[in-house]
Amino acid sequence: MITEVKTKVYAGRLKDRASLLRSSSGGAFVALSDCFLDNGDAVVCAVYNYEDHATEFQLIENREERDKSIGSKYMQSKPGKIYKIAEDWLINHPEKRLLFVGMGCQADGFRKFAEMKGFRERVWIVDIICHGSPSPRLWKEYAESAEKKYGKITYLTFKDKRNGWKAPAAYVTAGGQEHLIKDYVKVFYNQCALRLSCYECPYATTERKTDMTIGDFWHIEETIPDFYDEKGNSIFLIHTDRGEQLFETVKVKLEYRLSDTKQCWQ
Ligand SMILES: Cc1cc2nc3c(=O)[nH]c(=O)nc-3n(C[C@H](O)[C@H](O)[C@H](O)COP(=O)(O)OP(=O)(O)OC[C@H]3O[C@@H](n4cnc5c(N)ncnc54)[C@H](O)[C@@H]3O)c2cc1C
Repeated sequence: MITEVKTKVYAGRLKDRASLLRSSSGGAFVALSDCFLDNGDAVVCAVYNYEDHATEFQLIENREERDKSIGSKYMQSKPGKIYKIAEDWLINHPEKRLLFVGMGCQADGFRKFAEMKGFRERVWIVDIICHGSPSPRLWKEYAESAEKKYGKITYLTFKDKRNGWKAPAAYVTAGGQEHLIKDYVKVFYNQCALRLSCYECPYATTERKTDMTIGDFWHIEETIPDFYDEKGNSIFLIHTDRGEQLFETVKVKLEYRLSDTKQCWQ
């Protein structure tokens, strides 16, 4: 049985600096997914496809594949066939556990699916704080027009931290060179191109039905200044007893600090 608890808040980041630098926030995703993959379990998460310039959910069973999912993709991701794939995997691996990581709306859909199919006890659900996802068509058209100008896109990042977590750079590597994509992220941050449903999101709250919520710990430099790291900071909001157990397991990979909802200004 899964028991809801009063939401607990932690600030944290990966001890491993190389993985922290590659992650968009404090690397909560790597820490959590390592826990499952290192045990022979699986992770469902969103991966960018450089052929069709779309982000789609995949079921992943090793760190190499998982690394392709690191980093925020600023577009709405597609579920694809993930429900069927996850169901088959859970049926074929009755002793194993699954971690789902996705946006609030996607995580709630997956939670309901897992409950309906009777798998919820074996599925850990982590949702990501989100102020909205832009239309996937907008990004596809933008990427295709960039490819016409510069050549094939071979790498994409929306949150490169070379100038720090608070001043991320967004660029594509195309034709062997880096090209900034500032105009696209400006539209994203200005919230002009989000899906209509995002403006009325019911998941934009600290009380959620997932096991855990992760995101950026914005304003940490003001609220917990002695714990701020310019290379990235994650927030962990814990909602269930097994979310607590999961956090206990990942602690070893993290620098962390107990916090509260007053310190995290979202
Ligand atoms: C569109 C969008 C808006 C966001 N807005 C906010 C915000 O307002 N405030 C805030 O605190 N944080 C926001 N975030 C979350 C933040 O940017 C990081 O994604 C999150 O903190 C996880 O970072 P990490 O360092 O733990 O792991 P990372 O390695 O950076 O994140 C990887 C994880 O993010 C998932 N992911 C990335 N892009 C998508 C996508 N398009 N759809 C579904 N899953 C995706 C991957 O599946 C993987 O599980 C947003 C993220 C996205 C994608």
